[in-house]
Amino acid sequence: MTQSLEDRLITRFFRYLSVTSQSDAAATAVPSTPGQWDMVRLLETELNALGLHDVHVDEHAVLTARLPGTVPGAPRIGFCAHVDTVDVGLSPEIHPQRVFFTGADICLNPARDIWMRTAEHPEFLPYVNQELLLSDGTSVLGADNKAAVTILMDLLTVLTRDKPPHGDIVVAFVPDEEIGLRGAKVLDLARFPVDFAYTIDSCEIGEFIFETFNAAQAHIEIQGVTAHPISAKGVMVNPVLVAADLINRFDPLDTPEHTEGREGYCYVTTMSSNANIATVKLSLRDFDDAGLEARKQLVQTAVAATQAAHPRARLTCRIEDSYRNIASSLGNDRRCLDLMERGFAELKIEPRIFPLRGGTDGSALSARGIPTPNYFTGGLNFHSRFECLPVPAFVLAYRLTERLVGLAAG
Ligand SMILES: [Zn+2]
Repeated sequence: MTQSLEDRLITRFFRYLSVTSQSDAAATAVPSTPGQWDMVRLLETELNALGLHDVHVDEHAVLTARLPGTVPGAPRIGFCAHVDTVDVGLSPEIHPQRVFFTGADICLNPARDIWMRTAEHPEFLPYVNQELLLSDGTSVLGADNKAAVTILMDLLTVLTRDKPPHGDIVVAFVPDEEIGLRGAKVLDLARFPVDFAYTIDSCEIGEFIFETFNAAQAHIEIQGVTAHPISAKGVMVNPVLVAADLINRFDPLDTPEHTEGREGYCYVTTMSSNANIATVKLSLRDFDDAGLEARKQLVQTAVAATQAAHPRARLTCRIEDSYRNIASSLGNDRRCLDLMERGFAELKIEPRIFPLRGGTDGSALSARGIPTPNYFTGGLNFHSRFECLPVPAFVLAYRLTERLVGLAAG
């Protein structure tokens, strides 16, 4: 008896969830944890078994593979998924379960008395009378992003077996997305030869993200002058006070807690100091390219003014780009958006398009010249013990991915 698509996806999804692959922000190596190697080695074996071309794992556990197209001239589509699950202080081990949701509260874990109560989680209510995939309440579910890994691996299985017409498809499985898009940043683009790409890393049905922040990071160091307080007059330069002066030069309303929608901000994320040296870090965010440049200038101006006010301190400032608005990388090539529009129309999916006040692996890839929008897995409550993947939404994300490949083949 052949398995239904639902059961097939769920079986594969649970198999991938059984490989523990949380990332660790405290580690500096990429990948940050050995579990991500396990995940990548498993996928590598499966891709080789499918007969994909150019299956390659680099020293950072970035796995790439190509399914050669059968339709000459069709666009080469990339798909990028991350193999890490997020560490938000919950268990790295994931014990998923299938639950039919009647609308009543769900006991995720009888032993530990963990409940999903609809009064606290009304976002579940649209999914009454559906089967849900949930954790046992001690961890996230890991649909972020193993739902995408599952969709891609299953689709490749179908494409290699049934051989419908398609263009070149290149997949990249990357580590450490959750700790600063580190995997996507080190992905060797020579191994990802595509016209455009997608990530499947958003939440609810219809979500399609092609506007993200432009992001840069400013690191400012303030060298003071130390002296014993007995004889400090006219000698000591306290870097703590210089740092405070610097921070006070920024608009107190131009911050994450005072902005929304398409507004950017300057966010002081770090201020550390001893008697000798202080460090101040800012995250600069703006949807507009020129806006981000203006914010960088704002930082330079504030640093210069602070330096002028404290001539005996020594201020140095370094600003680095982190990722880029996907929309900025599109230029005139709208193929990845047009394709999605057609896929949504065919499957009668209502688009939910909004500017994302953050970044995705796609923003990291877009910064490197590959337009990479992001669409839904169908999941809810990412990064929470109440993370949930309604099965019909999961299937729809699969169907959409399948249609994108089909539509691109013409
Ligand atoms: Zn994710």
